[in-house]
Amino acid sequence: MSIMNFCVMTLFPEMIEACLGESIIGRAREKGIVNVDAVNIRDYTLDKHKKVDDYCYSGGAGMLMQPDPIVRCYDAVKEKMSIPKENKPRLVYVTPQGQTFTEKMAAEFAKEENLIFLCGHYEGIDERALELIVTDYVSIGDYVLTGGEMPACIMIDAISRLVPGVLNNEESAVGESFTHGLLEYPQYTRPAEYMGKKVPEVLLSGNHALIEKWKLEEALKRTYERRPDLYEEYIKNNELPPKTVLPDGTIVPKKRKMRKPEEN
Ligand code: SAM
Repeated sequence: MSIMNFCVMTLFPEMIEACLGESIIGRAREKGIVNVDAVNIRDYTLDKHKKVDDYCYSGGAGMLMQPDPIVRCYDAVKEKMSIPKENKPRLVYVTPQGQTFTEKMAAEFAKEENLIFLCGHYEGIDERALELIVTDYVSIGDYVLTGGEMPACIMIDAISRLVPGVLNNEESAVGESFTHGLLEYPQYTRPAEYMGKKVPEVLLSGNHALIEKWKLEEALKRTYERRPDLYEEYIKNNELPPKTVLPDGTIVPKKRKMRKPEEN
């Protein structure tokens, strides 16, 4: 069984606990498949008033997190995680200046055994600390939040559900949006009719092949309507089964049989 260890360096460890203590991730933590340790950067300041921030040299009203408590916290985290001193472990600084987080990135991070997150606050973090310890700069989108705790929790949630054993069969990640490059088809549960709206008949037919065809066509339609960028990519890189109806109504032709080379 693979185990994934997350460590979050933060000024607000309670935020991490509040977010990742319940439901599926909480259960995975209880089972020991996923470990989440939120470490308070403030515990590593040498300042007698426990200060961890200061004014920016470039001016402006905001405060910046100082490098020393962060680097000292990092050294302690490495020791806690039994990472040799000379090793530079994978450490994600969550920042609006990073690459945008995707399902593909989540799958890549899920292969790691140890993953450290660094959360900024106020104006952010002194560049020198980042240069010393960060391996990946990752954003959750083009907007600015007050702190990195929510982005770290979002990433840990998305990564954890890809760790084997975290989801049970009923919660399987297979077929979900982004796993194959398409958004997921619409889904229905009981009752078969609600407020005059009926579940599509094909789903009640019991015909497995027809249901699979419907799922693919609905996923294509939804992706075409909501994420044309993803749709274009998918169509470019994937071969569709013959007779699939595309969102514009065209039907994927039968594959033409290759002619055997003429025998001499
Ligand atoms: N001055 C920084 C800038 O302009 O890039 C923004 C600092 S922000 C107010 C404080 C902290 O919130 C950041 O250090 C980062 O950790 C986190 N943060 C804010 N927006 C984020 C986003 N979109 N993705 C990931 N982290 C974010």
